[in-house]
Order: sequence, then C-alpha cells, then structure tokens
Amino acid sequence: MGKFNRYLITAALPYANGPVHIGHLAGCYIPADIYVRYLRAKKADVKFVGGTDEHGVPITIKAMKEGVTPQDIVDKYHKIIYDSFTDMGISFDIFSRTTKQVHHETSAAFFKTMYDKGLFEEKVTEQYFDETAGVFLADRYITGTCPKCGNPNAYGDQCEKCGSSLSPDELINPRSTLSNAVPVKKQTKHWYMPLQNYEPFLKEWILEGHKEWKNNVYGQCKSWLDSGLQSRAMTRDSNWGIKVPLPDAEGKVLYVWFDAPIGYISATKELTENWADYWCKEDTKLVHFIGKDNIVFHCIIFPAMLKAHGNFILPDNVPANEFLNIEGDKVSTSRNWAVWVHDYVKDFPDQQDVLRYVLTSTAPETKDNDFTWKDFQQRNNSELADIFSGFVHRTMVLMHKLCGGKVPPFHPEIKDEKDDAVLPNLLASKQKIEDSIENFRLREALAEVIDIARKGNKYLQDKEPWILAKEMEKNPELAEKNQKLIDNCLHLCLQLTANLAILANPFLPFTAKKICHMLKVVDRMLDWENAGSLNLVRVGYSLRPAEKLFVQIEDAKIQEQIDKLHAGLVKPATPAETAAPEPKEVKEEIQFEDFAKLDLRVGTILEAEKVPKADKLLKLLVDIGTEKRTVVSGIAAHFAPEEVVGKQVTLVANLAPRKMRGIESQGMILMAENAAGKLVFVNPDAAVDAGSEVR
Ligand SMILES: [Zn+2]
Repeated sequence: MGKFNRYLITAALPYANGPVHIGHLAGCYIPADIYVRYLRAKKADVKFVGGTDEHGVPITIKAMKEGVTPQDIVDKYHKIIYDSFTDMGISFDIFSRTTKQVHHETSAAFFKTMYDKGLFEEKVTEQYFDETAGVFLADRYITGTCPKCGNPNAYGDQCEKCGSSLSPDELINPRSTLSNAVPVKKQTKHWYMPLQNYEPFLKEWILEGHKEWKNNVYGQCKSWLDSGLQSRAMTRDSNWGIKVPLPDAEGKVLYVWFDAPIGYISATKELTENWADYWCKEDTKLVHFIGKDNIVFHCIIFPAMLKAHGNFILPDNVPANEFLNIEGDKVSTSRNWAVWVHDYVKDFPDQQDVLRYVLTSTAPETKDNDFTWKDFQQRNNSELADIFSGFVHRTMVLMHKLCGGKVPPFHPEIKDEKDDAVLPNLLASKQKIEDSIENFRLREALAEVIDIARKGNKYLQDKEPWILAKEMEKNPELAEKNQKLIDNCLHLCLQLTANLAILANPFLPFTAKKICHMLKVVDRMLDWENAGSLNLVRVGYSLRPAEKLFVQIEDAKIQEQIDKLHAGLVKPATPAETAAPEPKEVKEEIQFEDFAKLDLRVGTILEAEKVPKADKLLKLLVDIGTEKRTVVSGIAAHFAPEEVVGKQVTLVANLAPRKMRGIESQGMILMAENAAGKLVFVNPDAAVDAGSEVR
C-alpha cells in the first residue's frame, strides 16, 4: 500500500436511461466493490463513490419518445439502478446523481476555471442538423459506415465494433438515427479543448509513468496517443444538461463527457466535507474502475481536464475490463440480449454471491469473455456448492456429531505433518490473494480462496475423522487417542472456516456474514489482519447448526433462464420497422390499362381525429394539392392522431366515396403491413408537393 495514505475509488457512472445488466456488474461494479471491501477490511481510509450520469441527448430523446420529461426518465432509472446495486451488495459510500445542484455548481465552476485560464478554443463550425426533427444531432445520433473497419452501424462518436473514436465527419454515408434523414450542416458556436496540447504530458504520464497499467488499458492509450489527439468540443446544443456558464451561451450545455467524470468530485463533496483530501492530496490513490468503452474518457480526456484545471490529483490506475458477452453473443440492450440485474435478484433470491462469484471468476479482465447459464450452473454446483460450501458444511456437521457442538481443543502432542502444513499453506494463500487483489487480478485471487477450501477438503479426506469415530465404537481402548485426533482435525477445519470467511469476504460478503453467524463471531472478525490466525474461534464455544452456504442449482432452473433470454430477444428491425411480411402469393395478372385506371396521389395529412365509438378508425383531412379530402382510415390502433399530422401519404384519389360511421370517406390511404402486423405509411422517400402523381 506504500506511499498512499488514503484511497478514492470510483466506478463508472451508469447512464440513467435504462437498467443495469450483468455485463455492467462484471465490467466494473463488482471489481470495484471487491477492491473497496478489501481495503476496508485492511482498515484503509477509503471512499467509494458513484452515481448516475443523467445528462446527454439519449435521455432527451427517450423522454421525447415516451412523452415524459427528461427528469422523469432519470428519476425512474436512478432508482432502478440504485436498487440493483444495493441488492447485489455493491457498497458505495455514496451513489449520487449528476442532476444534483452540487454537481451543476462543481461542473460549471470547473469549466469556468478552464475558460478563465484561456484553455478553450471558441469555434463556429458547421454541425449536423436534422431538418426533419429540427434539432442538432449529437454525434451518437448519427450513424454511418466506420472508415476504419467498415462496420455499417458505427456511431458519430465511436465505432463499437472496432472501438475507434470517431467524429461524424469521418463516417461514410451519415444518417440521422432520429428520422433516417441525411443530416445537413448548420452553423453553431462551441468551446473546444485542444487535446493535442496535452499530448506531451499524457505521453509522459501514461506511457512512461504507468507501465504497470493493465495491457488492454495501456495499449488503448498508446494507440490513441500514437495516432495523435485533436481539439474536441466540450459543449453541445441542448437544453438538458449543465448550462455553459458564460453570458453568450444560450442553448448550450456542457458535453456530457465533460461533466460526467466531474461527478466523481461532486459526489465526494456531497459525501464528506474533507473531500479535498481525496481530490487534492498527492498521497491519495485514485482508482477508476470502468469498462473498456470508457478508457479514452478516463485515461485521456478527464486527466487532461484535471491537469488543465490544476487543483486535482490524477488517477493512479484505471483497471478497465473488456466486455462480457452472453451465451456467445454481444450484449445488446436494444435487442434485449442481456441478463438484467433486477431480474436476477428476483429469480435467484439470496443468491447474490453466486452471481458475484461467477462474474468474478469469468471476468473479462484481459479480453472479452462469455457468460453462459450452463457455466453459471457448473461453477455454482462444483466450485461453490461442492468445494466451498461442502468443506464448511462437513466441518460443521462433523463438529456437531463428533465434538458435541463445541470448538474442540487442539492437542499439540499428537499433531502430524499434515496438521503442521495447514498454517504455512494458509499464509501463502493469504499473501497470494493480497498480491492478486492489489494488482487487480481478481479472478486469480478468488481462485486462490476456493483453493483453500479445496485443500481443506483434502485434509478432511486424509484425516477421515468419521473412520476414527467408528473405530472408537468398536474398540473403546482407542477412544482417548482417536478423540484427540478428531479434535485436532476439526479444530483446524473450524479455524480454516473462519479464515475462509475473512478471505472470501471481499468477493462473497453475504456468505462471509453467514459463516460469522454459524461460528457465532462478530463481523469484526472479518478484519483482514485476522486472516492467517488459527485462534479465531475459541475452544469450548458452542456453535450454531450447520447451514448450507450454497446449494445445487437444478437443470430446470437454468433452462428457464436460457428460455427467458431467448424469449425476450427483440428481433432486429429496420429503422422504420418495415420488416417483410410473410410472402403472399401475387394476385392475378392485370393489364396496363387496369393499372392506369388508378389515380394515386401524394397527400399531406393536415388534421386527424378519432372517430367516436370506432376503435380502429381515424378521420383524416388530407391535402392533395387541388383540394382537401376527408378520408376515414382504419389505422387508429397503430397511430395516435397527433403522430400522423404532417405525414405524407399515398392516396387512391379516384376510389368511389363510401360512408363509414356516417362519414363519407373520399379516398383510401395505402399502408404496408410488416410481419408483426404493424402498419406503416407508403410514402415518398423525400418530401414532394402535395398532389404529385404516383406512377
Ligand atoms: Zn470500426
């Protein structure tokens, strides 16, 4: 722990526009929590801060689509996310929100300090604007083909396939994700941070100064720095976010990646009045736990901001994990290919530690890794239930059966080399676990914990106290000696059980508590310094009945989860949901003269209202250039009246009028139906004058 006197641990701020899934947990929350619990057990001065990231365009878009305010969206998801973390035992000291006043003030002041130092470039540029939706498009809302890997669905800020950071200008064939329109450029003023000015500092600090960082993190930083940094806008056109604290900045807010990491500072401020000790003193170790998609923001941009501001320390490490795939496929929230934490907690009550265990032992520490339900079952059944729980349970059962429910004494006069090996093995394991945790190799650390239980089982098997007991029954002369042998074995197994609680506690906190309960020891026993002692449970103490810490998970339960995952999968849809319907036979051939009888026109819907007492019908007023027609259309189940006003449609203009619900319908609108039965308008792919003929 060396030169540091206190620790500040952060975990990425989850974006408050959806719940969290197990990929999030594996990526950074469980690793951060393990590290923090370890530090707390070592009685280090540590603060663990987090919160939800509640600004940015995706939230405004979601609010727009759902017809609620952005505040409604973030309130809803902050609570869901907070509950998921609490349920899983992620032990934040504070879990704040970037919509809080303290964060707005802190971020605005941060920006102002940089502005006053003259560290921004003011630039008027042309930005992409969606004329259909009437908004400037954040980079995320432009998609196109990645110039580096050819992925056709890259975003304007990043290609998720190859991980490249992009700007919209680099995309080939850019489109708006809101309307699918080709975005146009419009002038707007923004404040840029010239990241290239920080290149020498970043190169020295990371490439020279932090060679110990994980290979995946160091490598990504190096590739960024090698390809050269550019100025990056730190403000956006929006009304949702932190207002740019300058007089001439109406309608401008801070870029969400400018304000979000400052959220760590604001959350610390909210937590303690000594916040500056954690952010400004060089003997604080600052560690950011994140997923790999956030590396550039935490290793390049935020440190450049901290350096520019001048008052703050820099992170000492950024142990980012790679991605966790599910059943061989990339997690996708839009396709609902994910295991949601709130679902897991419901489906596996009181089994948080199983998930914590599996996600740690398969953590994508160095490369992407796969989560499968079969593997989840197998690891639970063999490693947790058989080995770990098996050892503790056998020890407790045997102690009750052969030692009267009390901690038996140890008789040194008859110990053998197997007894002697217990302590040095335990101390070696403890050392290995410490080294591994301190170097963020948590899989390795947890494997070592299980290995202690594995060795315990082997020791029990070698000692066979149940055989010694049988011999005593047959031959009373052996009673005294055999009871001493039994005592020694179970005394050591009970001490090992107590050690397991301490060493497993950072990883499996719920289980550690259960062991403490069984052993009737207080939680303070879990202090790390106690590990390696063989005097943790006192001789003569009567203990509680044996409990199973982990039980087998049956095939049916696992199949249920696999089925649920597949059943929930949203089939990929084209942007307008125009999936092809089941192909139908083409109707009987007609002649051109038959077709020519149809008069098809493009019309614009001017007004729309529901037809009273008719669930399916909308009454529309359609402009077809030469006149306005009243049309009754059976689309009310698919569209609200306000959704269709302004739409261009194709109308059969010379269909004989007919009365529906007492209203004369003067034409028919063409619709297409997709496989799911959803109707979409047949309309021109660019706006044309109302009344244009369709031929
Ligand atoms: Zn790419």
